[in-house]
Amino acid sequence: MMTMEEKLMRKLGSGSLDFESYFSKKALEMKASEIRELLKLVEAGDVISLAGGLPAPETFPVGTIKKITQEVLEKHADKALQYGTTKGFTPLRLALANWMEKRYGIPMSKVEIMMVAGSQQALDLIGRVFINPGDIVVVEGPTYLAALNAFKYYGPKFISIPMDHDGMRIDLLEKKLEELKKQGKNVKFLYTVSTFQNPAGVTMSLKRRKRLIELAKEYDFIIVEDNPYSELRYSGEPIPPIKHFDHEGRVIYLGTFSKILAPGFRLGWIAAHPHFIRKMEIAKQAIDLCANTLAQVIAWKYVEDGYLDEHIPEIVKFYKPRRDAMLEALEEYMPEGIEWTKPDGGMFIWVTLPEGIDTKLMAEKAISRGVAYVPGEAFFAHREVKNTMRLNFTYVPEETIREGVKRLGEVIKEEVKALKS
Ligand SMILES: *Cc1c(COP(=O)(O)O)cnc(C)c1O
Repeated sequence: MMTMEEKLMRKLGSGSLDFESYFSKKALEMKASEIRELLKLVEAGDVISLAGGLPAPETFPVGTIKKITQEVLEKHADKALQYGTTKGFTPLRLALANWMEKRYGIPMSKVEIMMVAGSQQALDLIGRVFINPGDIVVVEGPTYLAALNAFKYYGPKFISIPMDHDGMRIDLLEKKLEELKKQGKNVKFLYTVSTFQNPAGVTMSLKRRKRLIELAKEYDFIIVEDNPYSELRYSGEPIPPIKHFDHEGRVIYLGTFSKILAPGFRLGWIAAHPHFIRKMEIAKQAIDLCANTLAQVIAWKYVEDGYLDEHIPEIVKFYKPRRDAMLEALEEYMPEGIEWTKPDGGMFIWVTLPEGIDTKLMAEKAISRGVAYVPGEAFFAHREVKNTMRLNFTYVPEETIREGVKRLGEVIKEEVKALKS
C-alpha cells in the first residue's frame, strides 16, 4: 500500500531538482524508524498488533477534559490563549512540584520545574545542553528507542549496560566505570527509565537506585531519570524515584502527562536543579518559545483540583486485567526455553527467545500469521542482541491479547524446532 506521501511524490514526478543535495549532513544521516515501516504492514491485514506503544484511548478522561476546558475558557482565557513564559505556567509548575513532594518525597525546595512539549522534547534539550560529540552516555540495554534517537543527533558514544529482572546491572556499570577511569575517561550522563521500563518492563531495585547515586557521586556523572510509568502500578509496592535519593542536584527527572492524562496534550516536565533548568530554558526558547499554554492551564486544573489522583486508579483498573491476560497467555502458549519479564506495571513485556533466533527475520512470518511485535534489536544502542521482542499489553482487549500470544507461540514453536534440526 502506498502512503499519501508516496502517492503525492509519484504525482509530482521526479522533476529536475536534486532534492537530497540541499540537505545538511546531519539531515542526511537521519533515517526513518524501521519499526514504523514494519507497522505499515500491520495496518494492511487482519493482524493483531502487540507492537504498538500507545495508551488505550478508553483511558482518556474525556468528560473531565471537557468540563475543565469549558471552565478554563470561561475563567482563564486571557492566560490560556496567550503566549506564556518559557519555563511554563507557574500555577501548574507549583501544583506539580507539590504533587511530586507528596507522592515521591522529592522536596519542592530542591527542584525547579520546566514544562516541555512531552518528555521527548526534554530528551532533545538534554542532548543539546549536555552532549559534545564523543561524550560518553550510558544507557540500559535495551533502552527507549526514542531517547537513543534524540541523543544520537548530538554525536555521543553510547555505552550499553545489560539488565536483569532488577533493572540495570549496577555491578556491571561499576566495572565499566572503573575501566573507563583507568583510560582517563568520564561518563557525561546515564539515562534510565527506572520504573516499568520501556521496553523491558522491569524496575530498578531500591538497592540499585541507592548504589547508582553513590556511583554517580564517586565517578562524577549526572543521571537522567525518565519516569512516565511509575503511576501505572498493578502489583507490588511503590518504590521512590532515584531523584528522591538525590541531595546534590545530580538527577534530572522527566515526568509526562502522556500516560496519566493523554499523549495528545504533548505535555511533560523536567524537575531538576535550577542551574540545569536555566540552560535548558534558554535552549527551549529558540525551539518553541513556550509549551502549549491552553494544554498547560487545563493540566493545572487536572492536577490542582484532584482529578489526576482520582483518575490514576481508573487507568490501573483498566490495564491490570490486560497485563494479567498477557502473562497467563504467555504461560499457556510459549514453548519451553522462552523467557519473559513479569512487570508490576507499565505497558510492556520483554520476551527472550533462544539464541540463534533473529526476531527481525521472524517478524514478517509472524505478521503473515496474524500477529505483530517489535523486534528487540533497535532498542540496543549497538544492536548487539537479536533474539528479543517487545510486546504491548495496553492497547488491545484481553481476548485479542490471548489470541495474539497464541499465534505468536505457534510461530515461535516452529522457529525453535527449525533451530534444533
Ligand atoms: C511514553 C514514554 C515517554 C513519554 O514521552 P512524551 O513525549 O511525554 O509523550 C517518555 N519516555 C518513555 C520511556 C516512554 O515510554
